Amino acid sequence: MRGFYPTGHTRSGECDDCLFPSLDISRAFSVSQAFDVSPSFKSIIEELFPQGIQNADGSADGLVVFPGFCDVHVHFREPGFSYKETVRSGSLAAAAGGYTAVFAMPNLNPVPDSVENIKRELEIIERDAVIDVRPYASITVGEMGGTLSDFEGLRDLCVAYSDDGRGVSQDGLMEEAFLRAKALGKILVCHCEDMTLVKGGYVHDGDYAKRRGHAGICSESEWKPIERDIGILRRTGGSYHVCHVSCGESVEIIRQAKREGLDVTCETAPHYLLLDDGDLEEDGRFKMNPPLRSRRDRLALIEGLKDGTVDMIATDHAPHSREEKSRGLKGSAFGIVGLETAFPLLYTCLVRENVITLEKLIELMAVNPRRRFGLPLEGAGFTVFDLNERYRIDPDRFLSMGRATPFEGREVYGRCLVTAVCGSGTDKRGDGYTAAYRYAGPENEKRSGG
Ligand SMILES: [Zn+2]
Repeated sequence: MRGFYPTGHTRSGECDDCLFPSLDISRAFSVSQAFDVSPSFKSIIEELFPQGIQNADGSADGLVVFPGFCDVHVHFREPGFSYKETVRSGSLAAAAGGYTAVFAMPNLNPVPDSVENIKRELEIIERDAVIDVRPYASITVGEMGGTLSDFEGLRDLCVAYSDDGRGVSQDGLMEEAFLRAKALGKILVCHCEDMTLVKGGYVHDGDYAKRRGHAGICSESEWKPIERDIGILRRTGGSYHVCHVSCGESVEIIRQAKREGLDVTCETAPHYLLLDDGDLEEDGRFKMNPPLRSRRDRLALIEGLKDGTVDMIATDHAPHSREEKSRGLKGSAFGIVGLETAFPLLYTCLVRENVITLEKLIELMAVNPRRRFGLPLEGAGFTVFDLNERYRIDPDRFLSMGRATPFEGREVYGRCLVTAVCGSGTDKRGDGYTAAYRYAGPENEKRSGG
């Protein structure tokens, strides 16, 4: 049995008897509670699990229903780099991780900087995505930092504007981007990196780099551009979202900006919360940008989660080919995969360890991203996890084409059993749920080759 049901479905619809908001979207519910409020939920679960949905012990202990997660930062590599990932494989991986909506970054070929280019991406999404996939348009033409993209033309086709992968270095151009985005009611989503400070670095400029003679990336290369952008935001107004915050200084700058009342939000990724440069190994699967920072930074990010400075957790799912990740820390491409491991890792390391509550984690993964980017909470679909199932992370079992993760071999709790989007195939409205993923058991779990 294949682990998924292709649906041709790409947009969140609304169904007659959605689980959410009948149920409070910020909480988890048992399957039987969900049965009680939504006939659509009951009918799809009965169809997918004729023997009844159950955990490995054959009971319903530990089975919980969440609103589908929303990841505001993924790389699906199409068009242009389909040897790394495709919209099909990436969206399947997302569904297998409990996600029903993701936003795709624009470092593609062609870059979605014009209506014509973004339509090429949207055609692929319409054809191949099994969940709601929404593209970012680039801030600048070709993400080259020279001139602004067609903001007006792209407005209704993109979720927001971002030059992820690069920082926009020209202050004047950035100011113009803030003004244009504001006029269009859109958010500017920024990868903050001052390339003049990076100087060929590839791991955090800390103890590990010094000890092993690696070129370091200083934290200033991240927080300086954030500070600059917030200065611009103070003058222009508008909405600003900071990508993959990795260091304590960035958290503090954003905390102060929020106190000032500026419209700023930010995300961090699971690896910055759970690993630091003390965990580094001489292996490409530990290489991403920004890099794993110090323990102090990691703890500052967790503080930021707790006090609301960090609004959401995104994976920065960035698949590359095996060869591209096989050249050690120095030579490998930047980026790791994350969609299929985010929830189990965060649940295991943060919720089970009493760092944050399960409700808080749902807020960070499902509620806050939708709220910030204007996706209706009713269209969230659902995902069912078995919180008691314990297993080791095995990249060979990923649906993503990417295999590189620093969490390979980690023991985690939490298995996604099914993820479904709202609405159905052709009409996409008023018609219950459509399954995007179904766990087919340990024997059948391996990729089916397509
Ligand atoms: Zn980035």
